[in-house]
This record gives sequence, structure tokens and C-alpha cells, in this order.
Amino acid sequence: MLIKDTAICIRAIDYSETSQILTFFTRDSGKIGAIAKGSKRPKSSFGGPFEIFSCGKIVFADSNKEKLSTLTEFEPSFEGAGFSTLSANLFKLNCCLFGAELLNKLTHDYDPHPQLFDDFLQFLKNAGQGTSNSDMLTLLILFQLSLLKETGLKPVLNCCVNCKTQYSIRNTQNAIPDTQYSIRNTHHEVYFSSTVNGLICRDCEAAFPDKIRLSPDAADCLSNLKLLVGAQKNTLKEIEKLLTLHLTEILGHKPKMAKYILSL
Ligand SMILES: [Zn+2]
Repeated sequence: MLIKDTAICIRAIDYSETSQILTFFTRDSGKIGAIAKGSKRPKSSFGGPFEIFSCGKIVFADSNKEKLSTLTEFEPSFEGAGFSTLSANLFKLNCCLFGAELLNKLTHDYDPHPQLFDDFLQFLKNAGQGTSNSDMLTLLILFQLSLLKETGLKPVLNCCVNCKTQYSIRNTQNAIPDTQYSIRNTHHEVYFSSTVNGLICRDCEAAFPDKIRLSPDAADCLSNLKLLVGAQKNTLKEIEKLLTLHLTEILGHKPKMAKYILSL
């Protein structure tokens, strides 16, 4: 059966002198593995060898979901940022490679996530534009949170997972005196626990040995993602470090690209 879909290449491996094995994240079929026979030949019908992040319309023959599909057609769209554009900035390229690695590891073959496809395409488009390294880190954090949400792993970031006390953002204008009990004061100490997938307050933290204490700025940003735009670089790095630790727990190993991101 021939299937048409829109796809982004998230992994490309040389298979022989002339062919490649590709992993595509497609909009309607989810992740698929496909062989592109002859893609490395000079006059390939695919218009040349595939690079990671190539995107466009594909047609593939899906004989058996246990085996590799065969790619039969490819029409590039140049919608996202290609590898060549991204490779001009190593940090941006590494962020996109990290995104692709996580997408590959957290999704299953033939399990469609159209929203996640759109989010990843938008992430690549934004990466290809003139974003600063801090903006790129913000885009990566938002993509990781979208990935967790779409794969059913959305962390709880608006209240303590254990006692359900709402997290309220510090507001210096309406600050409640420290002598008075308030949720805000309780939440001056905020933690994140991977085990329970969310925030933990000071009253509950003792029961969660894996918790990590968050700075007030990082906790504010996580509970209101709009604050990520314009956040300090150190806050963004703290959040990315936390997400990397969390993703390492989820995957059972540290993602390969992580070390290139945290060295920023
Ligand atoms: Zn609590």
C-alpha cells in the first residue's frame, strides 16, 4: 500500500554505497523507518542524499509495520530550516539535533501526533531565523515541554503534586508580609521531583528524596511559561538542566546531545 504524508527526516544513516536508511517523523503516520534506495546516486529521483531535517511530502510503500518501509517519492518543501542553514550556528544545530533525538526516543512507530509534528516543524522554522542563543534555549525548553505533553508525560507545574497547593507567582507589588501565612511564602521553597512528575512544596519535600530545589525565577517561569521570554540566561540554563535530568530519568539514560546544550 502506498501512503502519502508530510514528513521531517529526524535520522539519516548510510546503508550502502547508494542507499540510506531514514527515520521520518510524519504528520499522519507518526514515526516511520524507511529505506531510500539509490538516494546517494548522482541522478537520484529524490534530488540527492537526505540530510537530517529535510522536510516535504513523501510517498512510501508500507508492506509490513515490523519492517522498514520503502520510500518511493520525495518532494522537498524547504519549510523548516535545513541542516545547511542550521550548521552555520553550532549551538542552534545542537539544539535541533537534541530535539530530534528526544522526538525519536519518546515516540513509537506508527503512533501519530499531528500537534507534535506541527510543533517540531515550527521549532525548526524558528531556529532557522535570527534567534539569539538564549532565545534558542527558550525554544528548546518549550519544545521539550510540548513533547512531554503530547506523549502523555506532561509535568504538573501549577501546584504541589502531593498536597495540591496552588503555586502562585511572586508578585512584589502585592507581597504579603512574611509574618503572615500564605501559599506564596510556602512556595518560596519550591522543588521538582521526577518521580512524581511535578512541583513539590516545602511542606511536602521531605517525602521526596529525588527532589531538586528550584530558584524562585525558575519556579515562576515553569508555572507561567510566558515568563520564559525575557528570562535571564542563568534561569534558562537552570530549567534546561532540570529538564535534561527529568528526561534522563524518563529514558533511563542521558540523551546523547545533552552535553552540547548544557555547556552553553
Ligand atoms: Zn505540598
